[in-house]
Amino acid sequence: MRKLLVSISGVRGVVGEGLTPEVVLRYALAFGRFCNGSKVVLGRDSRPSGEMLKSAVVSGLLASGCDVIDLGICPTPTVEIAAEDSKAYGVVITASHNPIQWNGLKFIGPDGIFLSPEQVGKVFRMAKSSRLGSKSWNRLGRIRVEESWIQKHVQKILQLKYIDTKRIRKRKPKVVLDCNNGAASSIAPMLLQALGCRVVELSCELSGFFTHSPEPLPENLRALCRKVKQAKADIGFALDPDGDRLAVVSEKGTPLGEEKTLVLAAKLVLGKNPGDMAVNISTSRMIDEVAREFGVKVHRTPVGEAFVSRTLRRTKGIIGGEGNGGVILPELHLGRDGLLAMALILEYLAESEKPVSGLSNELPSYYMVKKKIDLKGDLEPKTNRLRRFFSKAKVNHMDGMRFDFADSWVHVRKSNTEPVVRIIAEAKSKVQANKLANEAINIVS
Ligand code: MG
Repeated sequence: MRKLLVSISGVRGVVGEGLTPEVVLRYALAFGRFCNGSKVVLGRDSRPSGEMLKSAVVSGLLASGCDVIDLGICPTPTVEIAAEDSKAYGVVITASHNPIQWNGLKFIGPDGIFLSPEQVGKVFRMAKSSRLGSKSWNRLGRIRVEESWIQKHVQKILQLKYIDTKRIRKRKPKVVLDCNNGAASSIAPMLLQALGCRVVELSCELSGFFTHSPEPLPENLRALCRKVKQAKADIGFALDPDGDRLAVVSEKGTPLGEEKTLVLAAKLVLGKNPGDMAVNISTSRMIDEVAREFGVKVHRTPVGEAFVSRTLRRTKGIIGGEGNGGVILPELHLGRDGLLAMALILEYLAESEKPVSGLSNELPSYYMVKKKIDLKGDLEPKTNRLRRFFSKAKVNHMDGMRFDFADSWVHVRKSNTEPVVRIIAEAKSKVQANKLANEAINIVS
């Protein structure tokens, strides 16, 4: 497949196929022109292809007259924080949860937020232009290395009013940490040690050679689950390759499911500071029940961090994110942050004095299935069939189609980041959730 996936989430492709140095250079030149030669912070995840692609990105940015601040290997949220604090644009070289042969670019504005669909569209149009060239020798940008941003990121988390570092340090939680050799491999142990955790590291090297399929779904976390049990740990954490998503494993070695990450973090934060939330349309209904508990409102958005961040900013939301394990606390910065999520959950654990399994059992009980099927042809013609089949449901067209029933729902949408259709169903029972998902799959496949 030579395809390049171009979406609100940036550019992604298979290295050497859709994603070549020429392609990346073109996007870097376009982004450099888009930001008019401003300062750009640049980070990358640990994928082996990152170094090669970085050279192309740096070349494009310097040629456009942008000064580049090189952050080295670091998570996406660290780049977002550096962009906001430095009032600089940002680029992250990452394909997030996609497999190792993939890589890509994420684009950030000087507010530390992913570019809006309009802004991304402008960059993409510029990338198609034939007039992308270099400035003359005396108008090129310069490059500066700043590797201290992961320390600054850790400090900012420790200083949050929601985190009582003394309380967590006193409890000395034993944590098994699975970074899958991704970008969080140095910052995540650093944060946990600062919180006084006893850390058991699993794949915490910045090699980018993933030890398991990188999406932090329960089926990919078997080694982590085993290790939590074996080490008699209090909790297990798994981060995706660019550190913006977090999955939690209980002390019993059971994955909680990514959806519970945001729910646990929201319970802690809203308990101290009740206020509105923003989440994407495929996030669990558990979040609506938590909102009801605290008497706050949930704003739903299309899938994609850029939408959630902007809605949180507009509604002055207290916390939000995506059900895929992405927690956003606007007070820290307006982007999903797996490191932040770890700290919030450890605080909740320390305050509650209950085990993770106990906290998990207290949450509203829903069963969610997340499936994906290869996208064959266009999804559009099949939507009428879906609508006919689920005719008794309330339909939401915000992003793909979501069909809501009294105590269940199913959401069908084209992925922004992979050539697949995602089908997510949630119900009070496993049987019902699977039934809904399979019905939708039968229609769209
Ligand atoms: Mg990610």
